[in-house]
Amino acid sequence: MSEAVRTEAVVLRTMKYGETSVIVTLYTKEFGKVSGIVKGARQTKGRFGSSFQPMAQLRAMIYRKEGRDLQTIGQCDVVNDFRHIHDELPKMALGMKLIELVQMISHEEANANLFDLLVSALAALDVAEGDFTLLFPWFVVSLCFLLGFEPTFHECVSCGRKKSPSGPPASRLRFHLERGGVLCDECAGTTGPALNVRRSIIDLLDRIAQASDPELILALAASREERAEMDMLLWAYLRQHVAGIRPLKSEKVFAKILPDS
Ligand SMILES: [Zn+2]
Repeated sequence: MSEAVRTEAVVLRTMKYGETSVIVTLYTKEFGKVSGIVKGARQTKGRFGSSFQPMAQLRAMIYRKEGRDLQTIGQCDVVNDFRHIHDELPKMALGMKLIELVQMISHEEANANLFDLLVSALAALDVAEGDFTLLFPWFVVSLCFLLGFEPTFHECVSCGRKKSPSGPPASRLRFHLERGGVLCDECAGTTGPALNVRRSIIDLLDRIAQASDPELILALAASREERAEMDMLLWAYLRQHVAGIRPLKSEKVFAKILPDS
């Protein structure tokens, strides 16, 4: 017997199935990642409409049975379709990166904080008017925090000494991938996987990590080079700590459409 449960959810992926149905993958607040079939979703336009567009926030009815790969999904009401994200390609590119990352790292295990993080990032992206690109590193750093391996940018991860506040922005600091943070000069020789990262990048990540609210991120800006260096560090960090991390498909797709992003 399956039990009918109501939960909030964000659509991660939708695939057509058969003549009239779709298979959707949802990130739900109460059950983590759930895949399910929506019978007749493409037949009854009025009832389901664009409910299953990627990124849509829904209130979903799921007929759930423990251990089943594909659940049955019933009535879904759209809470927010984040329409403005779909209106602008650069926003769309970033939004797709967020949901692809959640799809990759999440399991059938509830993490209400991760759900809230995803929704708050999508909501900020939806209303953003200026530079929103730093929402991605903010999302990754916040995600690492929720998964229990928060990176440290403000003090030496080995001895706890505060990172010296001054220094040429172009000088490099050692970031230890396994220990998860910067190293001071004395500890810079700590063995294990590490990267040399520009001080300005570490300082920026420090500010990003301290921002509790994505709205604060929208006030920060970074050059394309800075973003690239940050992304490189964060991907190396994710690969170190999360099994099965691989490059995002959506990033590749949008890099072709948006060569300057
Ligand atoms: Zn140290």
